[in-house]
Amino acid sequence: MKNKFSKILLIVCFVSVLLTACSNQEKSKAVDGEVDTKEKTETTTEETEAASNIITDVQERQTFALNTFITVKLFEAPQFSDEDWQRTFEILADIENRMSAHIDTSEISEINKNAGVQPVKVSDDVFNIIKQAKDVAAETNGAFDPTIGALTKLWQIGTDNQHVPSQAEIDQALKKVDYNKLILNEKSYEVFLEEEGMAIDLGGIAKGYSADQVFIYLKSKGVQRAILDFGGNISLIGSKAEDKPWRVGVREPNRAEFKVYASIFASDESFVSSGDYERYFEEDGKLYHHIINPFTGYPTDNGIRGASVVLDSSMQADAYATALIVMGKEKAIDFIQNKGLEAILVYSDMTSFNTFADDRDFKLEK
Ligand code: ADP
Ligand code: MG
Repeated sequence: MKNKFSKILLIVCFVSVLLTACSNQEKSKAVDGEVDTKEKTETTTEETEAASNIITDVQERQTFALNTFITVKLFEAPQFSDEDWQRTFEILADIENRMSAHIDTSEISEINKNAGVQPVKVSDDVFNIIKQAKDVAAETNGAFDPTIGALTKLWQIGTDNQHVPSQAEIDQALKKVDYNKLILNEKSYEVFLEEEGMAIDLGGIAKGYSADQVFIYLKSKGVQRAILDFGGNISLIGSKAEDKPWRVGVREPNRAEFKVYASIFASDESFVSSGDYERYFEEDGKLYHHIINPFTGYPTDNGIRGASVVLDSSMQADAYATALIVMGKEKAIDFIQNKGLEAILVYSDMTSFNTFADDRDFKLEK
């Protein structure tokens, strides 16, 4: 059975992920998205009768949202109408419109504009994601910090204005990054940034949150097997087939080419990766990427090039993956072990550390 997850299959699907994702220098990983027709038709008569509206023809749509390419592939699901797909992608647009720090009318922008001035009442889900982001900040001792906005606004990585800020600007911004000054009123759903110049940036968690929301919606529509690829953040509904998990790949942290580093089995969960190869720019011969160390104000440079985490919650895995990159090797390993996380860290020399149990069937692809 394991042999069926051959390198060839992986390569086929990496090529397809590459085709959809590489044009904006996005992204990582890949998934064993191949379901051969024989397996798909192996549904028993009882199952077919019980779910006569379920089809096993692959239904696939793509969109661009949250600054990334999103692909949703349904392998076993009711027939999706255009309205169903529209609703699926509206979930993303809605989250982006309310949670992006780059959209002037978003709730996050409203909080940021009122930094040091007054609390802002927000909707339930915006409040909850900020609360969860603050919780992860506390858990990771600030390695993940949703008030990173003052710094990300300076660097502007991923925009036409990306540049290395002056040390004075970085020093100034560093004073404005502190999740302890992000005040949440659980009764009134008000959010307050205590100091002027502070800013929330949910870029390290919002994609995971939106994957969870789409996951919930698709399940509510009766989807039984699916792969959600949010720019390399993978969420899996069900398994590849009865008693057969998907095989998910981790991209080699390598900016020059799209190569698979390793892969594992996974089902009905999320596999989220962060890496310094995803968004970056070069200035005076030096590379600067989009994961910022909240203590130095600079992109991380500690020997960890990539981190991936498997969890039920894509949101939490997203935040943890970003945090692990910031922590550096020793602290990241301690964190993984203390939390009992299933994760992999890939280092600059292309060696790695992982905590995958045997049934994950971890395989280096080199
Ligand atoms: P990607 O979104 O490319 O998959 P991440 O999940 O690691 O990558 O998120 C990176 C984004 O998170 C950055 O673009 C920025 O918006 C935000 N960010 C950068 N550094 C931090 C940090 N230390 N803590 C929280 N968010 C961060
Ligand atoms: Mg993240």
